[in-house]
Amino acid sequence: KAKESGRNQMIVYTEELSSKVKQNYNLSTNLRKAIERNEFSLHYQPQVDLRSGSVIGVEALIRWNSPEYGMVPPGEFIPYAEESGLIVPISKWVLKEACLQLMKWQAQRFPTLVMSVNISAQQFRSAGFSKWIKSVLDETGVDPNLLCLEITETTAIQDMEHSVQMLKEIVHLGLYIAIDDFGTGYSSLVLLKRLPIHMVKIDKSFIRDMSGDQDDAAIVKAVIAMSHSLGLSVIAEGVEGREQLEQLKTLECDYIQGYYLGKPMPSDAFTAYIQSYSKDAVR
Ligand code: C2E
Ligand code: MG
Ligand code: MG
Ligand code: MG
Repeated sequence: KAKESGRNQMIVYTEELSSKVKQNYNLSTNLRKAIERNEFSLHYQPQVDLRSGSVIGVEALIRWNSPEYGMVPPGEFIPYAEESGLIVPISKWVLKEACLQLMKWQAQRFPTLVMSVNISAQQFRSAGFSKWIKSVLDETGVDPNLLCLEITETTAIQDMEHSVQMLKEIVHLGLYIAIDDFGTGYSSLVLLKRLPIHMVKIDKSFIRDMSGDQDDAAIVKAVIAMSHSLGLSVIAEGVEGREQLEQLKTLECDYIQGYYLGKPMPSDAFTAYIQSYSKDAVR
């Protein structure tokens, strides 16, 4: 009997596995086609300077509108893209598209807007990373002083030697570096001290609860103070309410980003957003 049920379990397991494999296979195939079929787009979310009240930056966030699955959030396909190697052409498309869009905004009325682009772990770890960035800069002609690369804490800490070297090369090209999702990984002081970075991006999980949770508020306060004493700027992501905004102002956080200011939106909507934006939004 035990043997029988054991065998049944085995069969169930194998079937589940094979359907998962099949799903992944389909996902990879569709992901591959997505590039050719032009199914990706970028949405843009505003970043505001709490002192001046101005929109100073924008984060590009990828969207996949798939005929098979509908809108697929990046958290669901970026991991597969990394496994299958498709992250290489996807990242290239993202960076190029973001640069071209930035140049359009620059030529319109927003010459100092800084564009932030998320960099995947696999891309960052590749040996030719900075050369690759350089090639996109050359191809598009974008001003590197208006570009910021977001690298997660977890990615940065994996191989410190590589990270230090790569980031040095990137900074040498003139770009800014932000450490994304800060607080969710090792949050090592060594990371902040050794890496040539400009900005710390406090993870939205701390911001979400900071109004009600003393511990989260204490962490946010400490990260801001620590970053400032190391000469780094701080941006809070996931700001959804007025209360958080006021708290962050009191803590002298430099920049904020979140639904309170605006959700990620298509480029046209973002253009309209900055045109009609008033500093009263954060006053
Ligand atoms: P992230 O870089 O930390 O981006 C912030 C995420 O929080 C975005 O989710 C954004 O839509 C969401 N968000 C912004 N404001 C708020 C808010 O007030 N409340 C809440 N609850 N959420 C907010 P999204 O767009 O789904 O992206 C998820 C993650 O996928 C990103 O996290 C980033 O790690 C990755 N990702 C997005 N675009 C790209 C890309 O072009 N390339 C790579 N490699 N990764 C990307
Ligand atoms: Mg980011
Ligand atoms: Mg983040
Ligand atoms: Mg995140």
